Amino acid sequence: MAVSRTFSIIKPDATAGNLTGAINKVIEDGGLRIIAQRRIRMTQVQAERFYAMHAERPFFGELVEFMTSGPVVVQVLQGENAVPRYRKIMGATNPAEADEGTIRKLFAKSIGENSAHGSDSDENAAIEIAQFFSEGDIVG
Ligand code: ATP
Ligand code: MG
Repeated sequence: MAVSRTFSIIKPDATAGNLTGAINKVIEDGGLRIIAQRRIRMTQVQAERFYAMHAERPFFGELVEFMTSGPVVVQVLQGENAVPRYRKIMGATNPAEADEGTIRKLFAKSIGENSAHGSDSDENAAIEIAQFFSEGDIVG
């Protein structure tokens, strides 16, 4: 199996709950390596650009407001089949539907405030990583 990368965000509900370390443990226990990590406060422009594919959805305004409401931790994760592996570690978008032991089941409050983001394809992972990290900041 090929080693690949995905992009992760620990969202504001999780940083507010002081859960960065707990979530990182779930990530590492799931077989992924955190090869870059930075805590930032997203600007409105960054959040709108990051979630541009959802611009027409009814929850877009709420999503941007939430993502800029507090600190987030942006990360690059590496491991075998990183994109689908991390989606599995995160669990379903709606925490009520997430499997036991997943980040969203363990920590998320609602479909909106769902603790973590993970890329949905290798192509989007590369685009998202480049939005927040330069290659020199990623140490695999
Ligand atoms: P993410 O892209 O954050 O990893 P996802 O891929 O599981 O999540 P998407 O469909 O891409 O889910 O939705 C992006 C984000 O928008 C969700 O994580 C959630 O925070 C928010 N969202 C999605 N659906 C709703 C909804 N019905 N109401 C409120 N917020 C929503
Ligand atoms: Mg998504």
